[in-house]
Amino acid sequence: MKSFSILITVLLLSIFVQAQEQKKWQGKFEQLDQLLPTPNEYRTGSGEPGSKYWQQRADYTIDAEIDEPTNTLKGKETITYYNNSPETLKYLWLQLDQNINKKGNEDFGNYFGPVRDSLSTLHMQYLTRAIEFEGGYSIQSVTDKAGKNLPITINNTMMRIDLPVAIKTGESYTFNVAWMYPITDRSLFLLSREGYEHFPEDNNNVYLIAHWFPRMCQFDDYEGWQNKQFQRLGEFALEFGTYKVNITVPADHLVASTGSLLNAKDVLSARELERFEKAKLSFDKPAMIVTEEEARAKEKTKSTAKKTWKFQADNVRDVAFASSRKFIWDVQAVKLPTNTVLAMSFYPKEGLPVWSEESTKAVKNAVEVYSKYTFDYPYPVAISVNTSNIGMEFPMISFNGGRPHNGQMSDNAKAGMIGTIVHEVGHNYFPMIVSSDERQWMWMDEGLNTFLQTRTEMERYPAFHHTVPKDIVPYMKGDKRVMRPVMNTSDNERLNAFGANYYEKPTVALTILRETIIGKDLFDKAFKEYSNRWMYRHPRPADFFRMMEEATAVDLDWFWRGWFFTTDNVDISVDNVKWYKLRTTQADIENKSKTVKTGDLNAKATDKSSADFSQGPQPFTVLNTDEKAYGEFRSHIDDNAVRQKLAGKNIYQIQFRNNGGLVMPLIIEWTYKDGSKETEMLPAEIWRTNENEVNKVFIKDKEVVSIVLDPNSEIADVDISNNVFPKKPVESKFDQFKKTN
Ligand SMILES: [Zn+2]
Repeated sequence: MKSFSILITVLLLSIFVQAQEQKKWQGKFEQLDQLLPTPNEYRTGSGEPGSKYWQQRADYTIDAEIDEPTNTLKGKETITYYNNSPETLKYLWLQLDQNINKKGNEDFGNYFGPVRDSLSTLHMQYLTRAIEFEGGYSIQSVTDKAGKNLPITINNTMMRIDLPVAIKTGESYTFNVAWMYPITDRSLFLLSREGYEHFPEDNNNVYLIAHWFPRMCQFDDYEGWQNKQFQRLGEFALEFGTYKVNITVPADHLVASTGSLLNAKDVLSARELERFEKAKLSFDKPAMIVTEEEARAKEKTKSTAKKTWKFQADNVRDVAFASSRKFIWDVQAVKLPTNTVLAMSFYPKEGLPVWSEESTKAVKNAVEVYSKYTFDYPYPVAISVNTSNIGMEFPMISFNGGRPHNGQMSDNAKAGMIGTIVHEVGHNYFPMIVSSDERQWMWMDEGLNTFLQTRTEMERYPAFHHTVPKDIVPYMKGDKRVMRPVMNTSDNERLNAFGANYYEKPTVALTILRETIIGKDLFDKAFKEYSNRWMYRHPRPADFFRMMEEATAVDLDWFWRGWFFTTDNVDISVDNVKWYKLRTTQADIENKSKTVKTGDLNAKATDKSSADFSQGPQPFTVLNTDEKAYGEFRSHIDDNAVRQKLAGKNIYQIQFRNNGGLVMPLIIEWTYKDGSKETEMLPAEIWRTNENEVNKVFIKDKEVVSIVLDPNSEIADVDISNNVFPKKPVESKFDQFKKTN
């Protein structure tokens, strides 16, 4: 009992402290100045690459081979690294992402939770690596152009190469790396974006090969080397360049890869080649290049001969590919104003029939809608590959989960699958082209991309559920002791919250900006401007924040501050409503004139708040203005004209309270006695002079019967029970409990 009462005291105390805290001025409308880096010649105050903006470049030539019997990948690459920075580089850092799978390097974080009464074998595998697997790179050589060994240092998922001679500004350096690694069985790892999936029925694999070659770390003006370790959740920061990739696989495999296929006639059959050439003109529907029957036949061949597929990709920051003899392949051409793109899908028969019906169509929809809101998709191909689970993006190619069971798929599952395809194809824009640093700021690609995914689904799949502001309410109501702001390092987020915090919350924030605060046309223009300014470049959060203001003339610092830098939520209440009507008789005026000050509604002695409108309006008086108030002005207001103007009008004074912390516009719906409604919006700046409480006077011709705040759920208000006047009775939790027990 004692500890209980202490708990109550502590609770009350903390509520009191919180309430006190909230009452203090918090500078919610102050500029972000101290929270953003100082603009400079590299990144300007308008959120644009500056006159001295620079970016490194890395070109790759890669030869890789999948050895099917042992599930290993062997590769060698030549990297030419261009130092465009003003600095001299004594060493280079490369990313060795496969090393996350090395025993001992895993689990930087604690994703898996404690042991409970019982756990599945799969959970135990995630938790303990019960099944032995030799993951990670074996680096076989790192040599200079002449073949001389270069000294290297490996630190988990990062490798440093010490250079014999430092690379000066404007110089390039060419070197070679040879490596191999066992391809992971995707089913054994949580958050497994790549590896192979085994199909026991026909004893074949689908290989999804990604972060498979040692890649240059990003080096930039903001961070220097971005060599923060790969810890699974925070993804990648990469440099652009040209890739020439030769992929050797069993001769009966089909390979889907980033880039243009350079040697179709060497790797496709005459029939496939003919169909492929024809498909390039198939604008109305997907054309089959490899059919189900052909793929089924190949499942049995198990060729031991090899073929080498050659691809080239320009202006990309990465390359990934998929390879299998199980693949069915369809292609459709998509015409954009400045480019014709081949939308393609590769899937095993296990994806039928939905994959042949929906995948390429979804690729086309994504490419078309995203192009409209940003820039025309610039690459030659956009590929969707079917996988068992999750979705993962790479330039020009994505791996997307979703399969029917016994040929059946629920509407929800199908919408999820299509949403995944749209989302992963959409990542071509963010971060594959507008190349933000995913390891630092997951919201910059996931948030912006999910926002456009939602737009695509609204336009092309109107029957789906589309993310709306109120979807984020359960998350926003969460426990503040563990919640992180959106401006938070990717790997610091909890596994059960990164979806809400980095995908959904920014999507809702951008939706509110577009629909409620800035307006559609102005927002869309600014968003397009941001996308184009940072195409093939590395934007940072400040660039986005500055750019969106600069292109709209809307000061959004209060919005970024609240929605991106805090865990506050929106909870605005209508605390008090007073209803007044002007006195009409002279007697009234004479009686009242002694006690009432002009215009000061609160000062009325008879003033009292009520729970509804049943008491009718309180009378109030408009007095003639005293001579003294005019000072030196000779012209005087017509006192009677003012009174006439207000005669018979309903005057409402509303007190609004900011309980959640986020300052937002006041969207007020008035319902009148005659049944008609009117909605008006006061901008968020209404909170400038008092961040916690606003009193505002409204004059209405008609009598009001009810007032509702945020009637269309536009601003993610977490408690709508306090948004209405007159208050509707709300059943307490205790009442509900009594009823059900
Ligand atoms: Zn994503």
